[in-house]
Amino acid sequence: MQNAASEIHELFEQFVVPSYARFDLVLERGEGSYVWDVGGRRYLDLGGGIAVCTLGHANPEITGTLAEQSQKLIHVSNLYYTEPQARLAKRIVDLIAPGRVFFCNSGAEANEGLFKLARKFGHDEGRYEIITAVDSFHGRTLAGIAATGQEKVKKGFEPIVPGFKQIPFNDLEAMRAAITKSTAAILIEAIQGESGITIATPEYLVGLRKLCDEHNLLLLLDEVQAGHFRTGKFHSWQRILEDGDFDFLPDGISMAKALGGGFPIGAFWVREKFGGLLSAGTHASTFGGTPLACAVAERILDVIEREDLMANARRIGDFLVDRLRRIQGKYPRVMSDVRGLGLMIGIEFEPKLSTFTNEEKSPAIQIVNRLHEKGVLTVPAATSVIRLLPPLNSSESEAVEGLHAIKNVVDELNG
Ligand SMILES: *Cc1c(COP(=O)(O)O)cnc(C)c1O
Repeated sequence: MQNAASEIHELFEQFVVPSYARFDLVLERGEGSYVWDVGGRRYLDLGGGIAVCTLGHANPEITGTLAEQSQKLIHVSNLYYTEPQARLAKRIVDLIAPGRVFFCNSGAEANEGLFKLARKFGHDEGRYEIITAVDSFHGRTLAGIAATGQEKVKKGFEPIVPGFKQIPFNDLEAMRAAITKSTAAILIEAIQGESGITIATPEYLVGLRKLCDEHNLLLLLDEVQAGHFRTGKFHSWQRILEDGDFDFLPDGISMAKALGGGFPIGAFWVREKFGGLLSAGTHASTFGGTPLACAVAERILDVIEREDLMANARRIGDFLVDRLRRIQGKYPRVMSDVRGLGLMIGIEFEPKLSTFTNEEKSPAIQIVNRLHEKGVLTVPAATSVIRLLPPLNSSESEAVEGLHAIKNVVDELNG
């Protein structure tokens, strides 16, 4: 079986654009929280395809809906009406607040829609600028990398799309000072994912809302990674603000990753007041909101609600964070922080450990590799954080299995 893996490697080396630094695993099939490689080895998948596989792998309700809907109608274009898109739009609006939904295929495309919304909103007053946060991530299109607050994604792709600037996250005064007469919108992640799980404070979110009201700006949230019940509420801002009596509603929200549980679909919601800004002919996507994608997404919502998976995400997430903090307490020299909400968890490691022997690879990558050896998949973030983004239907015994592997790796690193 080693041959199958090395042949696949060779095909990649010859024929696939080398834009990803892939891990040395060739995965073949999955079931629930587990995947198997071509050699037949099983892994516990705590990365969930980077917060995508809402219900785990090969979920029978997803595959059943895929089969059923594909036999009926896969695609007709947005020249026509279809029932699944109508129903899914209503479901999403019901989970947020009165508004409208536009469907697309990815997170970057959902954000692109929000950028166009902001430009349209400010256009007649000559306002176009969108302020985003340092260490944010908003996708890999040209405007997406302009919005993203990380130099490494921009490098080599200059000139950068104009009209974006970044200021420090969770810093209301910096945001206030950054607003100019050209500013049209503010876009942030309520939980920054790619840069290592950093949670916005309730005061920050509420303060941004106030700033936007004072300056007539759109407040846009990128819930592509943190959304879809991962934190125990539909969107992470709803979880962050759940304990207070806050008068808070964003003007636009992007979604993607978990929406289709692995089947590609993205969307943005826009508040009713601005629902007409993108009028006929101003925005479009050939594949956006196909009957197939929307039927799958609706079925996922059914399962999440029927099985109360938001409560499960909260319960298993709390359990993981509690146990991880105990490990941190035992190994403070190795693990410097554990943070997260629900099943969006970041574990920060001390980057200067002598046991990080490979100078070419970041500590995060070295830890992820060590966890692969123990049969567990996780996702690196920043240089020394690993992320857990497992399916919302993860069980406590799977969490225990993951914790066991993490503890073993931490013990090894402790030397
Ligand atoms: C993954 C991600 C994106 C980009 O989504 P794609 O589907 O890869 O285009 C945008 N924003 C955030 C917060 C993300 O995590």
